Amino acid sequence: MTEPKLRTPTRRTCERCGRVERWDAVQTTWRVAEDDGDRQVGSPYCIHEWDINGTFAPFEDEGAEA
Ligand SMILES: [Zn+2]
Repeated sequence: MTEPKLRTPTRRTCERCGRVERWDAVQTTWRVAEDDGDRQVGSPYCIHEWDINGTFAPFEDEGAEA
């Protein structure tokens, strides 16, 4: 049996411009992630759509039992 765990996303990616951010637990804010010294900033004009929305929805099958 698996224990239900409250998982906090620590990394998120914009599906539109490719911006990558990581969660800074100390500053309690999102920061732009860096890969090989490249800052993954994406587009400054993008209305970011983060890919964590679906992954962290805990209840999806509400009332689906027949
Ligand atoms: Zn974006």
